[in-house]
Amino acid sequence: MRGTVWFVGAGPGDPELLTVKGRALIERTGAILFAGSLVNEAATRWAPPGCVIADSKAMTLPQMAAWLIRQAGEHETVVRLQTGDPALYGALIELVQPLDAAGVPVRVVPGVSSAMASAAAAVESFTLPEVTQSVIFTRVEGRTPMPPGEDLAALAAHRTTLCIFLSITLLHKVEAGLRAAGWPEDAPIVVVHKASWPGEERIVRGTLSDIKQRCRDAGIVSQAMILASPTLGARHWPDLVTSKLYDPGFTHRFRKASA
Ligand code: SAH
Repeated sequence: MRGTVWFVGAGPGDPELLTVKGRALIERTGAILFAGSLVNEAATRWAPPGCVIADSKAMTLPQMAAWLIRQAGEHETVVRLQTGDPALYGALIELVQPLDAAGVPVRVVPGVSSAMASAAAAVESFTLPEVTQSVIFTRVEGRTPMPPGEDLAALAAHRTTLCIFLSITLLHKVEAGLRAAGWPEDAPIVVVHKASWPGEERIVRGTLSDIKQRCRDAGIVSQAMILASPTLGARHWPDLVTSKLYDPGFTHRFRKASA
């Protein structure tokens, strides 16, 4: 017996934001290893009776790999549930390597990242015509060192949208990075805590000068996405540059210009 280990993105928290494919896999899996501290337990609510369910919270990486390899010896389908999308700040490759070495087939199912859920919660767009057309997913240095050239000051110099993960307790470093890159004190910043979690989501809006105090006042110290972008608040702009694609004077493959 050599089952497949599926790394499934569980989404940002709302169980309904798990993909249809992820849910189908959970419904037929023999074993689930989930990241207890992060993934809403509701994600395991579709597991079939008899499914072996374990929380990886207290496991080391070798223990997790050993668990997955053992379960793959007993079940056709094994699921590793990861928060958001497995390609962002998860231990995907560290777990895939020992599975590869053990000859266990591996597949990945993408998930809705908390970055996207945060934009959705705040009704913000990461890209706007003539404002910014690029998005950077990053973090500031905590215990994981930042590789050369990736400090926030360098990345923020591009003036693109920044989705800053894992940094809510390091807001002072975020502020320092943005200031070093010349962002003005009134640059809008949005912090979303537990984006998409039913009844628990909170959105804090502020500026470079006051976002830290606002988060402190709101008591937000974990599970938060920091969005810094020249697009923030565009919902209320009177002079928005609109997308060419929907411009009445713009002809493309599916529509002739009308003006
Ligand atoms: N793979 C995940 C990220 C894991 S790293 C993803 O794609 O979303 C964990 C960090 O993600 C947290 O420190 C926080 O910055 C962010 N995060 C995870 N879930 C979140 C949520 N529901 N709301 C806001 N931020 C969240």
